[in-house]
Amino acid sequence: MKVRLEKDILNSNNNLAEQNRRLLAQNNIFAINLLSSPGSGKTSILEKTLEKLDGFFQVAVIEGDLATTRDAERIAAKGVSALQINTRGACHLDAKMISDALEHFDLLQIDLLIIENVGNLVCPTDFDLGEDKRVTVLSITEGNDKIVKYPASFVDTDLLLLNKIDLLPFTNFDMKMLEEDLQKVSAGLQFIPVSAVKGEGVDQWIQWLKDNVAAKKQQA
Ligand code: MG
Ligand code: ZN
Repeated sequence: MKVRLEKDILNSNNNLAEQNRRLLAQNNIFAINLLSSPGSGKTSILEKTLEKLDGFFQVAVIEGDLATTRDAERIAAKGVSALQINTRGACHLDAKMISDALEHFDLLQIDLLIIENVGNLVCPTDFDLGEDKRVTVLSITEGNDKIVKYPASFVDTDLLLLNKIDLLPFTNFDMKMLEEDLQKVSAGLQFIPVSAVKGEGVDQWIQWLKDNVAAKKQQA
């Protein structure tokens, strides 16, 4: 019975996600779903990204958190439209929350939609939001074991941002082990080492965004 219920929930989520995907495509919006555990620095990466993009294209951000509007406030301070979803206990965003949130934006004015999911490496992976690409953030301070312990976040994703790379000399994080684990769990997954604080790698990440936004425009 429980399995049946979960299947129904995921089916209806998938249908809504497809609706979101169509709506975003009609408006030529490239959308990403940003996944990670809490404290990996998703919001800090976004702040740095928005600073460096400096209005290069129109960005909208949807922030998912259990409570507070802190992250949306941090993003809005960069001059970008940001909407906070408080899940009130739910540990992931779902497609319905995104479809409701999209009603608050002028979609014709958006090139890139960034959805920052609730910090959680487990169930967000089951919920398609209608995004084009998933991006997973792992930070050096979380240690090496996340990839093998939470494989879904590293298999069903399109890009890995390895954050807090500036802290590498101060930890026992092993880059060779990272590459070996990725090879085992998710061979070929592209990863970009970044530092949201120092700015390292952010240009490469921005180029990835620019290439994808341009590709989405060409599909119009
Ligand atoms: Mg955040
Ligand atoms: Zn959840």
